[in-house]
Amino acid sequence: MNLPLARISKILPWSCVDGPGNRMVLFMQGCNFACAACHNPHTIGQCNDCGDCIPACPTAALTMVAGRVVFDPSLCTQCDDCLKACPISASPMALPYAVADILTLLHQNRAFLSGITVSGGEPTLQSGFVRALFAAIHADPALTGLTCFIDSNGHLGAQGWAALLPVTDGVMLDIKAFEPALHFAMTGRSNARSLSSARIAHAAGKLYELRYLMIPDQTDSDAEIRQLIRFCQDLGGPLRIRLNAFHRQGTAGAAQNWPSIPRSRVEAVGERLGSEGLGPVILPTVWL
Ligand code: SF4
Ligand code: SF4
Repeated sequence: MNLPLARISKILPWSCVDGPGNRMVLFMQGCNFACAACHNPHTIGQCNDCGDCIPACPTAALTMVAGRVVFDPSLCTQCDDCLKACPISASPMALPYAVADILTLLHQNRAFLSGITVSGGEPTLQSGFVRALFAAIHADPALTGLTCFIDSNGHLGAQGWAALLPVTDGVMLDIKAFEPALHFAMTGRSNARSLSSARIAHAAGKLYELRYLMIPDQTDSDAEIRQLIRFCQDLGGPLRIRLNAFHRQGTAGAAQNWPSIPRSRVEAVGERLGSEGLGPVILPTVWL
């Protein structure tokens, strides 16, 4: 059987901030949201081989071969100049990987790992690969005990989750905003699927964490927080809620001029969620 290849922007062999324990993280290329506040904006687009980034590379790590942009990782100094040059928020450094390639990396790092997280971009856009990878990990005796997590914007439909959840151990799901018009303005998409995905993952016992990014004067309003509380209460049961604090580092465009959210505001919302009987509530450990 031919397993699908994935286009992956970056692989972190170890991370302690992308799910429980120490995890390998795959940043999948491509996203169906266009979030103004995205901290990995170069993972949104898919490269169309226009070549605009080639002159920006100071080390000739990028070349055009037969109409395709070719990346030589051995020459790359990770300056990110090519990312700044791309007009469609893509990356010429995203490379194709087979399931077998990721399994090899996992075998090499097994002793240090608790699991793997697919992030992005939006990993469910490449759900055929994710399904095949997670199934292969669970079937591999040498990888027994590794957990498989998805970090998602939740825009996948019910049929997609029905196929993914049986091989998935946990979902970390972002709700960008509750007011539909605000969500559309922030992402270019409706939030109906994200809200539905949270319910689906929670009902399956696979919603590891609901995430909410607090942006000053946008998603931190009392009206939004009231909707966050109501949504979590409706889900019911213990629910891990992570409040993320907006900072401009890594963003592009208008978000570079937005202020950081005051720590006191995030902590106050955390206390309010707790006083409503919700949580555990996880707050940022680093404030920028
Ligand atoms: S990040 Fe690498 S490929 Fe991109 S411009 Fe810098 S050296 Fe070149
Ligand atoms: S990464 Fe962007 S600029 Fe570079 S070839 Fe692809 S689409 Fe063009």
